[in-house]
Amino acid sequence: MRRVIVAANWKMNTTPADAGELARTIAGRTRVDGVVRIICPPFVCLGPVGDAVAGDASSAPDGSPVLVGAQNVHHAAAGAHTGEISASMLAGLATWVIIGHSERRRDAGETDTQIAAKLVRAWSAGLRPILCVGEVLADRDAGRADDVVEGQLRGALAGAPIPTPVHDAGADLPWLTIAYEPVWAIGTGRNARGSDAAAMAAAIRRTLDDLGIEGAAVPILYGGSVTSANIDEFLAEPGLDGALVGGASLKADEMAGIVARAGTTAAARAAHATTG
Ligand code: PEP
Repeated sequence: MRRVIVAANWKMNTTPADAGELARTIAGRTRVDGVVRIICPPFVCLGPVGDAVAGDASSAPDGSPVLVGAQNVHHAAAGAHTGEISASMLAGLATWVIIGHSERRRDAGETDTQIAAKLVRAWSAGLRPILCVGEVLADRDAGRADDVVEGQLRGALAGAPIPTPVHDAGADLPWLTIAYEPVWAIGTGRNARGSDAAAMAAAIRRTLDDLGIEGAAVPILYGGSVTSANIDEFLAEPGLDGALVGGASLKADEMAGIVARAGTTAAARAAHATTG
């Protein structure tokens, strides 16, 4: 059974002085069974957020903790890369990492080759990647969205040494999660339609299968102007497994609404699994 995941991407917001308090508030208001909750703050806030969400007050009734993720990792193991952060530096601070976010592809010129190397570094350090893919508006308008996303997946994952099985039964968490984030929907207030995101999720799973990765086992999240008001549209789609949330993830009320809706999907999936 694929897990239902809500990941918060705080981007370049919060400081070490205030991130812990926000994380604690969100954790306390999202204590919902069955949902994998991940907070990805800026690097300098990983420690304060980890400290804030450690302990029973942040865990859901089923005992699941809030997990901490980084927003990026460097593609080299170590060396002369001023200002960068390696996978091994994240040990003890994060267990997840966002890789290939469109803002990094845009601002830092990240290439598929670098993104492929980042994935390898993440897995070697025991980090669980959320790989972001998505088309710009011109590609969608030209009918090229599927091709662009397929190219990004092949560029990042062809021949990748992904741990198997891709669903880590021991931790009941995946070693690969994909976030489909149409670039035109990120931070714009203009979300994709649930049906379009679901169609892309199906296309993504076909590409994964073709690459020898069991697509049915890989959670696919939607990202792009998700709020508590529109999350239902995405979680109503059986092929979508949650959301990567940017702007709304800085608001505890929004996160409470989004995770509550995710909990409904998680409960329905659990009931379905039990009754067969
Ligand atoms: C994101 O940062 O991945 C994102 C989807 O942002 P927003 O929700 O603000 O569109």
